[in-house]
Amino acid sequence: DQDLGELDPEVAAEIRAELHRQQSTLEMIASENFAPVGVLQAQGSVLTNKYAEGYPGRRYYGGCEHVDVIEALAIERVKALFGAEHANVQPHSGAQANAAAMAAVLQPGDTIMGLDLAHGGHLTHGMRINFSGRLYDVVAYHVDRESGRVDMAEVERLALESRPKLVIAGWSAYPRQLDFAEFRRIADLVDAKLMVDMAHFAGLVAAGLHPNPVPFADLVTTTTHKTLGGPRGGVILSTKELAKKVDSTVFPGQQGGPLQHVIAAKAVAFKVAAGEEFRERQQRVLEGAAILAERLSRPDCRDAGVEVLSGGTDVHLVLVDLVESSLDGKQAEDRLHRIGITVNRNAVPFDPRPPMVTSGLRIGTPALATRGFTADDFTEVADVVAAALRPDFDEADLSARVAALAGKNPLYPHL
Ligand code: PLP
Repeated sequence: DQDLGELDPEVAAEIRAELHRQQSTLEMIASENFAPVGVLQAQGSVLTNKYAEGYPGRRYYGGCEHVDVIEALAIERVKALFGAEHANVQPHSGAQANAAAMAAVLQPGDTIMGLDLAHGGHLTHGMRINFSGRLYDVVAYHVDRESGRVDMAEVERLALESRPKLVIAGWSAYPRQLDFAEFRRIADLVDAKLMVDMAHFAGLVAAGLHPNPVPFADLVTTTTHKTLGGPRGGVILSTKELAKKVDSTVFPGQQGGPLQHVIAAKAVAFKVAAGEEFRERQQRVLEGAAILAERLSRPDCRDAGVEVLSGGTDVHLVLVDLVESSLDGKQAEDRLHRIGITVNRNAVPFDPRPPMVTSGLRIGTPALATRGFTADDFTEVADVVAAALRPDFDEADLSARVAALAGKNPLYPHL
């Protein structure tokens, strides 16, 4: 019955330090968020002790009466949230969700199409040394150099040429909405299945602030920890027709015992995501990103070689293009880190700098919106980021402004 501090003071100290880091800095990694305390509690619960291979009502272990109720709640809630016919809430992560969803409709050697990693796609959409690139023949599509938007004419041309079995629409670093109806039309032209990976924008969809891919896609995958703001994990939504296939590729196809503590935390997060407060929060996410994009497009930024990819954003992130700046992505990331803002460097399409350096930054607003940031706060953040990317930046002044913003919007005050 020892508590963590007694049992393992070293780990306990680092967790404390991490809490302090999250509280005292501004988290702007677009794929991160702060889970509610209720989600943390579910995830840290005794459910971690339980084996429950199988699905509610059809388990290979005894004693599943409570986890059955919890998993059924998670399934029903996420189906209702997105209007899906079927849901599997067991994937341990987004990558596992994608592996299982793809295995449900593909054989090794089949052709898939996905957005090029270097243009904002995800590893699991066909990167060479990822499972997706090793198991499947990959045809990558791209964004248009001028507009920065997915080149749908190229998607259609490549689909007709390569006749993929699966078209993947989704992204990790892209500031615009995708045209799901057009992806569906193109997939139908070549009799391909359509999978949408909404990992990044699922929270916006849940709030009704982004088009819902579910009516258009055979398969929709997501993580639960990005804009959705829940525990780290994955989900697969599908048509009724694919339900059995999806369930059997997750278990026993790809995974063993489900993480019932995480599934409970997913159920809590889906409940939160169905509420009005969540919708209001996602509105601030979008507002914050729009403020950042506008601020970083002003002449003082342009003069410093800083541009906003695609000229703005429709989602929760801004991609900053530093191709013309003397700062590269790594230097810019480090500079923001020094003043207390966490972002990640990111290759821009057609990036002339190497992948470990890059010429871009990906800056997201979900975590700050969860902290309560208002439009005024986001305006101040945007001014601080813009100032930090200029040659004459004043580290002490900007650090103080960051600390003031963190102090004004306390995080986990009772932890
Ligand atoms: N899909 C997309 C679009 C992502 O951006 C990510 C993560 O960044 C994933 C899948 C993978 O999620 P995870 O890191 O949980 O495996």
